[in-house]
Amino acid sequence: MAQQALYDAEHDAFRATVRGWIDKHVRPHAERWDEQGVVDRELFTSAAADGVLGFAIPEEFGGGGVEDFRFNAVMGEELARSAVSSGAAGVALSNDIVFPYFTDLTTQEQRQRWLPGIAAGEQIVAVAMTEPGTGSDLSGIRTSAVRDGDHYVVNGAKTFISNGQNADLVATAVRTGDHPHRGLSLLVIERGMPGFERGRNLDKIGLHAQDTSELSFTDVRVPVANLLGAEGDGFTGLMRNLPQERLSIAVGATAAAEGTFARTLDYVKERTAFGQPVGTFQNTRFVMAEIHTELAVTRSYVDDCVRKHLDGALTAEEAAAAKWWTTELQVRVVNRCLQLHGGYGYMREFRIAKDYEDCRVSTIYGGTTEIMKEIVGRGLGL
Ligand SMILES: Cc1cc2nc3c(=O)[nH]c(=O)nc-3n(C[C@H](O)[C@H](O)[C@H](O)COP(=O)(O)OP(=O)(O)OC[C@H]3O[C@@H](n4cnc5c(N)ncnc54)[C@H](O)[C@@H]3O)c2cc1C
Repeated sequence: MAQQALYDAEHDAFRATVRGWIDKHVRPHAERWDEQGVVDRELFTSAAADGVLGFAIPEEFGGGGVEDFRFNAVMGEELARSAVSSGAAGVALSNDIVFPYFTDLTTQEQRQRWLPGIAAGEQIVAVAMTEPGTGSDLSGIRTSAVRDGDHYVVNGAKTFISNGQNADLVATAVRTGDHPHRGLSLLVIERGMPGFERGRNLDKIGLHAQDTSELSFTDVRVPVANLLGAEGDGFTGLMRNLPQERLSIAVGATAAAEGTFARTLDYVKERTAFGQPVGTFQNTRFVMAEIHTELAVTRSYVDDCVRKHLDGALTAEEAAAAKWWTTELQVRVVNRCLQLHGGYGYMREFRIAKDYEDCRVSTIYGGTTEIMKEIVGRGLGL
């Protein structure tokens, strides 16, 4: 029986909106953002104005009020397929990865306090788990939050935090107790709180427009009212959101690889050597046929994961499998497509060189390939 299409007319219309927003508000600034290492804050307000930020935030707080991950997927696909700056990924990251902390783990009072600014793109958000001493192993988190009356006193440091320079509200994993998991809590630390400093905007191989940064906390007094969930619920909160985070990366990785493939197909049809298009050499034809097939098989799995997520049925193991498979495929596809470009593939003026720089991190952030395989393997009872 034929499977129902994943997207309907509403999603197609949204796709056109996202494209329009990219053309008007992203493309003209992309190169400058890459050079300055951070996007302008107006990127977020423009996204809010065009309806591509905060569509899942309830309407009463100024959002779109539509909780349907297909809109997130459309947005991720359009950003990944279009050959524009990595900076706009900060908007998709907010929608897919950070907003759920603010919509799903908050009290009504916190929603009223934070969501209107977030939905308007005026308050930029980040999630900070990783520390200089620990990334894969969340039980190693050392940033401490010690209760003192109505406040926590926070000390420690985070690193590799996306939106790190621009962020106004940082959902931060802190240690409130000794137990490796039950001793973790989530606390929203706000721009301007004394002792909260931004460190370096890190110098990366790729994703140059993303302000991936160090953050430090020295005796920062954070009101207990900024706790997300109960004290000790941090690990559960993080685990709850990780499948969507990994699916979001998988959707982006698949679309990015499809974009690279499409651009390479054009290139190998045009470029000639020995009197014929390079695409007509058997090796090129086979490489492109292999990639085409791998992408088609992968697309089917990823779309299936999106369907399961819509039904609330996507497991941690399925999301982990999608994340490692698609990102490893993306890296492999980009590497092979670069080879087919010959020397031009090594030139920054060709998009494929940027694809090469930008893709490498995808097998690392959001949980490494090795950790994803651990999750899948443990699910097999091993
Ligand atoms: C561009 C970028 C953006 C990021 N954005 C954010 C963000 O917004 N917020 C945030 O909190 N973090 C963010 N991160 C951090 C990212 O999630 C971590 O880098 C990642 O989880 C890996 O942690 P680590 O770097 O400490 O590596 P480590 O944990 O030190 O791992 C080193 C190596 O050991 C392997 N390894 C570790 N444990 C095991 C094991 N049990 N079995 C087998 N192999 C293992 C890993 O797979 C890896 O190959 C970002 C990172 C980057 C590079």
